[in-house]
Amino acid sequence: MIEFCNVKKVYPGGNVALHDVNLKIEKGEFCFVLGHSGAGKSTFLKLILREEAATEGKIQVGDYDLSKIKNRDIPFLRRQLGVVFQDFRLIPTMTAYDNVAFAMRATNVQEREIRRRVPYVLGLVGLSEKARRYPPELSGGEQQRVALARALVNSPPIIIADEPTGNIDPELSVEIMELLTAINKVGVTVVVVTHEHELAARFHKRTILIEKGQVVADQPDGVPVVTPSEVEVMR
Ligand code: ADP
Repeated sequence: MIEFCNVKKVYPGGNVALHDVNLKIEKGEFCFVLGHSGAGKSTFLKLILREEAATEGKIQVGDYDLSKIKNRDIPFLRRQLGVVFQDFRLIPTMTAYDNVAFAMRATNVQEREIRRRVPYVLGLVGLSEKARRYPPELSGGEQQRVALARALVNSPPIIIADEPTGNIDPELSVEIMELLTAINKVGVTVVVVTHEHELAARFHKRTILIEKGQVVADQPDGVPVVTPSEVEVMR
């Protein structure tokens, strides 16, 4: 589903953000990509979305070989990927319903299908009652669920959550992780990108650890639970 072979990313100016990255995330997996700030997580995400191109190596996402992908195919690649961004990226002047519908309108889906699908997806994330609210009227956790509904609405085979616990309360982060787990159970591949060791430790899922641009560990059952002071020592 997602495969990196000997990937290297050097930014203009010579900053090496990723090097010697080899990994394969299979269809239907749930995995964490864990790393401290500056480790290369955003670069990993930008490469998958083809917002950046790899300097060396091969990246395959679904049917697309990103070293060969044509510009006109990039929107189709992105439709395979539902991304929940850390800052949600909702349009503040549109209701929750329209924020989600917007993602469907962008793909020229018929209005009848939009009227059927958007309430269904808002229901999945528990926001049926808030469909007519605008993002500034919603809590951080609710805004994130709108962002998740928008990521899900076109039924992408892969969902990527970028720092899903970064901008919400700890109790709500459990809620969003439970939603992601439920989505994974129906066959969607889920990749959670985070710097929070404790989050990855709680779920016992495959954890790919990135440090200084390299994959330094890939643990099938997740990272061991350690106390915050032990995490400090590891840093
Ligand atoms: P993370 O998301 O884990 O914090 P990033 O992927 O943002 O890590 O950054 C990895 C490395 O690449 C860092 O050293 C960062 O300074 C560098 N970097 C990221 N983006 C750019 C850029 N646009 N230009 C130059 N260097 C960059």
